[in-house]
Amino acid sequence: MKYRSFAFAIALVAAADSSGGNLPVVDTSLQPGDAFYQYVNGAWLKATEIPADRSSMSDSAMLSEQADRRTREIIQETAQNKNATADAKKIADFYNAFMDEATIEKLGLEPIAPQLREIAAIRDRKTLSRVLGSQLRADVDVLNNTDLDTDKLLGLWVAQDLDDPSRYAPFLLQGGLGMPDRDYYLDDAPATAAIRAKYTPHLAKVLGLAGIKDADAKAVRIFELEKRMATAHSARVETFDVVKANNHWSRKDFDTKAPGLDWQEYFAAGGLSGQSEFIVWQPGAVTGLSALVASQPLETWKDYLTARVIEHAAPYLPKAFVDERFEFYGRTMSGTPKPRDRWKRGIAVTNIALGDAVGKLYAARYFAPAEKARAEAMVHNLIAAFSRRIDQLDWMAPETKAKAKAKLAVLKIGVGYPDRWIDYSALDIRAGDALGNALRAEQFETQRSRAKLGKPVDRAEWVMTPQTVNAVNLPVMNAMNFPAAILQPPYFDPNRPGVMDYGSMGAIIGHEISHSFDDQGAQFDSTGKLHNWWKPEDFAHFKEASQKLAKQYDQYRPFPDLALNGQQVLSESIADLAGLAVAYDAWQLSLNGKAAPVADGFSGDQQFFISFAQSWRAKTREPALRQQVITDGHAPDEYRADTIRNVDAWYRAFDVKPANKLYLSTEQRVRIW
Ligand SMILES: [Zn+2]
Repeated sequence: MKYRSFAFAIALVAAADSSGGNLPVVDTSLQPGDAFYQYVNGAWLKATEIPADRSSMSDSAMLSEQADRRTREIIQETAQNKNATADAKKIADFYNAFMDEATIEKLGLEPIAPQLREIAAIRDRKTLSRVLGSQLRADVDVLNNTDLDTDKLLGLWVAQDLDDPSRYAPFLLQGGLGMPDRDYYLDDAPATAAIRAKYTPHLAKVLGLAGIKDADAKAVRIFELEKRMATAHSARVETFDVVKANNHWSRKDFDTKAPGLDWQEYFAAGGLSGQSEFIVWQPGAVTGLSALVASQPLETWKDYLTARVIEHAAPYLPKAFVDERFEFYGRTMSGTPKPRDRWKRGIAVTNIALGDAVGKLYAARYFAPAEKARAEAMVHNLIAAFSRRIDQLDWMAPETKAKAKAKLAVLKIGVGYPDRWIDYSALDIRAGDALGNALRAEQFETQRSRAKLGKPVDRAEWVMTPQTVNAVNLPVMNAMNFPAAILQPPYFDPNRPGVMDYGSMGAIIGHEISHSFDDQGAQFDSTGKLHNWWKPEDFAHFKEASQKLAKQYDQYRPFPDLALNGQQVLSESIADLAGLAVAYDAWQLSLNGKAAPVADGFSGDQQFFISFAQSWRAKTREPALRQQVITDGHAPDEYRADTIRNVDAWYRAFDVKPANKLYLSTEQRVRIW
């Protein structure tokens, strides 16, 4: 599970201070116990405006923008360098091809002509199944990056088998929709219905731009097919239920449990004909989608596939396609007024295609060995503090403690960048072929995933690039990635009191460690096997405390008509709470018995909590915030800052009294880890 969902969705311009080595100026007109988030962030919130190409603004967004600028510099220097490595040349060619709009205009739809011809040649269910199979890509990741959506009929994820973590298994996920979730097709809430009403005209426009006749009628039929797919789809909350998702199907099971698709053709074209077993994450959806292959008219499928292929290629097509894509997916769906500059989109797609090649150059330039060592020392302290917390839990039996500590002991922590990089030598990148490059990169990634099947599991592999401003827990691998781009100011800063690093980066590290022990992570044992290692009474206590936390979050209302769903944000809230508590302990341990230094009149404890609340400062447009409350597993930033309400030390640090608005009685405070 990631630290944030929206961290690098869209790039932005930094607005206010970068807070360098100074403590933030608190808003002394407020009582810290009444509105701690505003007390710490008042000045920033007043000074900050959300840029027009963004739906929100925060420290992580500011850092993502910085990472983009640095990456552009690296690419531009590489393009000038005659001695650049083969990988560096690929990066430059990929980016420059994307930036070469004149060539893109000239090529038009030519780069996807072979795909469109293949679709036009579909004449029966067998050839339809073959085309659907040939489109299968490794484009989802359920448990690490929580990438759940694919515009292909199904998505492939190759990861450790949940029953036998010594080997890789192919996971299949539902897909095929043009809008991001089944709710957009089926939900009758006015805001959702308004977006849906614009989708069919959008499809018609795309088909029309491609010179396809009868576009309006075709768009209506495509929408109807997608709506049937959406009806077959599982809801998001079900998709997160790992036990329900762990369905092992033999190759033969597909023919009997999910008739319709010609699976022989499908798997052969998808490069998986040798595979005897799969994990089917949403079995109902696979059955439903396969049945549609048999029941829906072939011509509708061909129109649908044509639309999907053009939409998928749109970022690399002429301007008219790019603009129409932003109209629907940018302006209509997220309320963002202005598209990102082309160069920022160029960096984003280069990072998707050649992320490790970019990351290798990025880490070499922007992540000093001393900072890597400092971060590793901090991680070490966090793990030691977590281990002590387990020892001190009064509700947990010794047997369960031993298993929890065994799990903690095997955690594989990656700091800054991976030990080994992806080898891109088999990836063909050509100057002046933006779309071809992108499609070949997707095939390369899929082949790289398929090639893992049958090989030993590599727990050192990363799922995030070093230039990503985020962090991630890989629950099945019992591993964690802390990319270089988040290990820097304002989260991690060698030029300020160490306590402030513990309040921000320490809490982030603690958060990710805690994911191994949240309501989802706690289901995997120290080998990564999906297996209940808890004594029943311990698990019952854990569940009860978790539910108390869920109820606390149910009370938060960002808008009078919209409250948080405590259950939906529970895993992340547990991780926030445990992460903060363990970061506080780790900081105390790091003092080695010495008194905490006072800075600018703030005690060590005060600096710690101020730094924590500061790391959550953010501004979000109302439609985007509403969408986050409805769909995201993370609570909005302000409520994540309010995690302090459960920590006794915060009450002491700021002399918080029962009359204060954020006050919780000792019994109301939730303690889990
Ligand atoms: Zn998280």
